[in-house]
Amino acid sequence: MDYLSFKIFDRLYCIGDKGASSYIIETSDGLVMVDTGYLEGCDRLIESMEKLGLSLFSLRHIIHTHGHIDHFGATKKLVSLTHAKTYLGAPDRAAANGEKELSFAKELGMEFKEYFEPDILLYDGDVLSFGDINIKCVATPGHTEGAFSFFFTLEGKKIGIHGGAGLNTLVSEYLDKMELPYGLRMDYLDSTEKLKHEQVDVFLGNHIGHNNTYEKYERLMAGDGEAFVDGREWGIFLDSCREKLIALMEKEDK
Ligand SMILES: [Zn+2]
Repeated sequence: MDYLSFKIFDRLYCIGDKGASSYIIETSDGLVMVDTGYLEGCDRLIESMEKLGLSLFSLRHIIHTHGHIDHFGATKKLVSLTHAKTYLGAPDRAAANGEKELSFAKELGMEFKEYFEPDILLYDGDVLSFGDINIKCVATPGHTEGAFSFFFTLEGKKIGIHGGAGLNTLVSEYLDKMELPYGLRMDYLDSTEKLKHEQVDVFLGNHIGHNNTYEKYERLMAGDGEAFVDGREWGIFLDSCREKLIALMEKEDK
């Protein structure tokens, strides 16, 4: 089981696989998508939306967790089809529009030309109002300089989408090659502390497969409507992020 497309609950949907995933929220201001995945996955994403009864032409807003091609690869194509507005953390702008080679395309061994210019740049604490849904945007630099985590409420439950937890951009080999500051590691730790202040009932990673998505999906399909609700998971995940980075730093100091 790899590729999933399903309703998590209420007006929240999940589409994708371990490589790339998108979340979609139905609002009174049309559909809001969080991350578009790889360009190569765009047709399948559109098909999945249709199967879920989500009209592509209702897509009005595309927000991004960060400026890597597994999160914005299909954005330009989707914008050309829908004219949706795009949002991205301000520091990742140069990765998205191709000014700097920070999109991770090379590292993934991919040719990529579908850069885009974000319509709206996000800053820490911004609240995006999409009709009846307000999404709080929290700057969580580390994995990239412009990674953002998102928080909103549905049916009284607080949803948290983590902006990027991978340490693959924080190893010294990558930092040195891209001439990125080692301070990003401290930023990552600070972001982790900052995120701990959020109480999250439904924790969503920005790759399917984070946080036992597959297991929760099975439970959901078996009739457990609360399969994705767990008030402790967020804190446990943040602690593990911190521990992993500290272990990396200790290993590379040797
Ligand atoms: Zn990334």
